Amino acid sequence: MGEKVYIIDATNREGVQASRTLIPKLAKTMLNLYLDQMGIRQSEIGFPTLRHEANFINANLELAEEGAIRRLRLAGWLRAKPEDIDLSFANCPRMRHLNISMPTSKNMIRTKFRSAMTWKNIIESLVASVARAKAQGALTIGIGAEDASRTEPVRLAEFALAGKEAGADRFRYSDTVGLDDPLSIYQKMKDLAREINMPIELHCHNDLGMAVALSVAGARGVIDGGVDAYINTVINGYGERSGNCDLVSTLLAISYAPALKESLSLDPVIDLSKAWRLASYASYAFNTPIPINQPGVGANVFAHESGIHVDGMLKDSHSYELYDPADVGRGEPLRVETGRIITTGAYGGLKGFRHVCVKLGIQFSGDEEARKVLNLAQYASLHTQKPLTDDEIRFVAEYPDIAAKIMTVNP
Ligand SMILES: [Zn+2]
Repeated sequence: MGEKVYIIDATNREGVQASRTLIPKLAKTMLNLYLDQMGIRQSEIGFPTLRHEANFINANLELAEEGAIRRLRLAGWLRAKPEDIDLSFANCPRMRHLNISMPTSKNMIRTKFRSAMTWKNIIESLVASVARAKAQGALTIGIGAEDASRTEPVRLAEFALAGKEAGADRFRYSDTVGLDDPLSIYQKMKDLAREINMPIELHCHNDLGMAVALSVAGARGVIDGGVDAYINTVINGYGERSGNCDLVSTLLAISYAPALKESLSLDPVIDLSKAWRLASYASYAFNTPIPINQPGVGANVFAHESGIHVDGMLKDSHSYELYDPADVGRGEPLRVETGRIITTGAYGGLKGFRHVCVKLGIQFSGDEEARKVLNLAQYASLHTQKPLTDDEIRFVAEYPDIAAKIMTVNP
């Protein structure tokens, strides 16, 4: 079992593009830091063709260069069009990882492009885009087939092999409307993996409530077909419409379903115990509560009340639980201040700021440095329109210049 399953988290692209959900650039950055600490392989950080993303993307690339983000690859998402490649590298010259996408189903090509683009044009645009990205310094390129689940397998193979020959590294299978089922996606991915012999990424939507099942079944097919599998996830299952494949549920499924644990070799760097902090922060940033029964991170996941269950639990905690709170980073009591409290924010002053920083273990060389960071903390609070979290304050204090760039958006 040499092939592995890697995670590409798409919260910062898919999660934020969904209707009525939006998070500040500082929060997107914090998610990247947390994803990196969790050992996730790649973060799809946004749209390098969008001007308002450029400072955020460039600043995050700097964080990686400075070692604040160690392993997480930061990848831009864009259309597989040469002009989009050029614009992306003009906005973000040091970007090294890309996912480029094109619709592949007959229906989508007809409705999206009318008669402006044929299948032949799609392949040509893909090949030219891969070559252009390579020439401008891309180190890894994933090629995404939008609406792949409504595309004939022969076309998917043609698309993947054309991209592979041009230098692409992975093929993304997008079940864009979420119509697949676990049994058929397994077989489809196994056949495709054997045919194209390149790593396959699963991008599954939750319209039928099966995004996690589709992703792990598809990954199993990819692995059985003899290549590495990549699963696209979104924190707390956010994403377009009914959302996408939930990150924590996916990691739990591969770690605790006996047959999956045996057949799928998960990227060994992943640390599931970072789940709680990541999911709670995402919930705060997205202003979206975590459902009480959300796998791993919901409020009721380790709660017991009914007589027979509690009797069993008191004798052996595994009688009614598959995993422990500590496995997902839970168990520490949350400290909530109920008495006097000093906070810092958009209208805070130096004394209060220094008081807060001492409690967080942040030290300054003198008032001048403290004043500079306070100034940024004021803007950060204005930028997020919320009280800053402890980790946000720590980040602003440690990387003031990068924080300033992240928050700078000039229309
Ligand atoms: Zn999607």
